[in-house]
Amino acid sequence: MVRFPEAEARRFRNVFVCRRCKKKIRSNNLVILAGKIICKGCGCNKFRPVRKK
Ligand SMILES: [Zn+2]
Repeated sequence: MVRFPEAEARRFRNVFVCRRCKKKIRSNNLVILAGKIICKGCGCNKFRPVRKK
């Protein structure tokens, strides 16, 4: 098993989870921080990175 750090970073870095309904959304990091992304499930704009461990 060979792991690709770049692939994993790309896989997790652009994916965010809604804090309210925990819906996964793929978007750019800067766009998320700017608050321009609105969750389709609950309509809030609070997100956290998907990797929590
Ligand atoms: Zn939501």
